[in-house]
Amino acid sequence: MKEKHAVVIGGGIGGLCASRVLADHFERVTLIERDELPKDAVHRKGVPQSRHPHVILDRGRRELNSLFPGLDDALRHNGALDFDAGVDMAALQPDGWSRRRPTGHLMLCVSRLLIEKQIRERIKQMPRVTILEQTEAAGLLLTSDRSRMRAVQMRKVAGGQTETIDADLIVDCSGRSSRASQWLEQLGFPAVECEVVDADAGYSTCWYQAPPPGERPSNWWWKGIFLNPSAKPKRPEDYYFALILPIEGDRFLLTLASWGGRPLPADHESFAALCAKLRSPIVAEAVAISKPVSAIFHRRGMQNMWHHYENWNGPAGYISLADAVCGFNPVYGQGMTSASVCAQILRQHLSEMSPADPAFPAAFFKRQAEFLKQPWSLSVARDRQALAQGSGTADSQDPFNGPVGERIMREGMDDPVIAEAIFNVLNLNRPPESLATDEAFLAAVNALMQRPPRPAPDSDDIPPYPPAAIAR
Ligand SMILES: Cc1cc2nc3c(=O)[nH]c(=O)nc-3n(C[C@H](O)[C@H](O)[C@H](O)COP(=O)(O)OP(=O)(O)OC[C@H]3O[C@@H](n4cnc5c(N)ncnc54)[C@H](O)[C@@H]3O)c2cc1C
Repeated sequence: MKEKHAVVIGGGIGGLCASRVLADHFERVTLIERDELPKDAVHRKGVPQSRHPHVILDRGRRELNSLFPGLDDALRHNGALDFDAGVDMAALQPDGWSRRRPTGHLMLCVSRLLIEKQIRERIKQMPRVTILEQTEAAGLLLTSDRSRMRAVQMRKVAGGQTETIDADLIVDCSGRSSRASQWLEQLGFPAVECEVVDADAGYSTCWYQAPPPGERPSNWWWKGIFLNPSAKPKRPEDYYFALILPIEGDRFLLTLASWGGRPLPADHESFAALCAKLRSPIVAEAVAISKPVSAIFHRRGMQNMWHHYENWNGPAGYISLADAVCGFNPVYGQGMTSASVCAQILRQHLSEMSPADPAFPAAFFKRQAEFLKQPWSLSVARDRQALAQGSGTADSQDPFNGPVGERIMREGMDDPVIAEAIFNVLNLNRPPESLATDEAFLAAVNALMQRPPRPAPDSDDIPPYPPAAIAR
């Protein structure tokens, strides 16, 4: 039997995925969104991160397609590009260029604007879902016996009275800036413990119109570029990474980023100046024959932040999902994938337990946390490692840190068995701890560790351009 009414707060990727799942189990779903939702793929106030690159990992691509069949094809039809990072990315690692080799993991390169538009259009066609635009959630209401959350308080952004909307289940998907934990405290519940790991990362991004493919120089074989910070930084610029990602319409986004609160270029002049001093001239050369089509967008406040709802004792009728629960440093491209996996966890949970069951929220939060450990441990470990490069100490408890992890990431990626296992982990297809029992992976790592370590080359010994040949 279907439950009556679910209310979702926030119409970003998390809220849209949750609405899709809830519509199979509730007679009605109401999605409350503060912004006016545009018809076209354009920026809006509530999602300022759309100005920055948004990679969909292999796992996220598959989960989103399972939730929205045909999404990949629709995105491709509108200009999205298939992207195998092993072949399509010119990647300069700390101590040299990666060999080009297919990984078998296909990401999609497309603007966040187009992803959200395509998903939103599908939600708008679902008869059970109503979207209340320009409506802000402003609080939550309990039943008189305090056992169950019963309604959301909301008001029109343009002004007017606060109204209430009753719900059998409330799902907070209002993103990083969610105020739900304050609302819960105001209702007398204990604070939800929030764990923060902040590498003080920042992005400066500019959008470019690239020359049409037929007019690009012959060494422009790549679809994207990734220049990691140097292993032996000598100049301030060696601490920055640069990422070029292609999007629809023969455009690309170039992001210059760093950890540890380093200054970020905020205008075209300082952006160009940093480009000119990167570890390879390849970025500056691409930019020189492309046309900037945006301002320089600046972003800080990208800390890893996990609200541990799985340890919190709350009322029935309320859950929370996506960035409102756990946001990651976006450098690792996990947010949308994680949101889509959490929506799938909700789908599974709804098929096994009635949302009317008082134990529903706690059981969901536990299940969701089991998955969240995976992207969280990756993001936090790599942030600590990145910070340790500049100052501090590396965390040796995770697979990518410590002397073994460091050698795996530096030298092991030339080994197809190691590379396959690592790409699977980075694409969230398998948890990092599964590597500890993977015999093929362990044998390959063992063989690597028997060899004398390859000394990190001096920056001056690294060739300025990537290899074009594909290794098989
Ligand atoms: C700079 C940057 C780059 C990123 N790059 C990537 C990437 O490469 N790959 C990737 O997978 N992820 C990336 N992410 C993360 C990704 O944007 C999010 O994880 C993903 O969008 C899921 O977010 P969400 O739906 O929880 O929140 P959001 O997408 O932020 O949406 C929240 C929604 O809630 C609405 N809202 C907020 N408060 C209220 C309220 N009180 N009432 C009603 N509505 C409200 C907002 O208007 C907004 O529409 C990046 C994030 C940042 C900051």
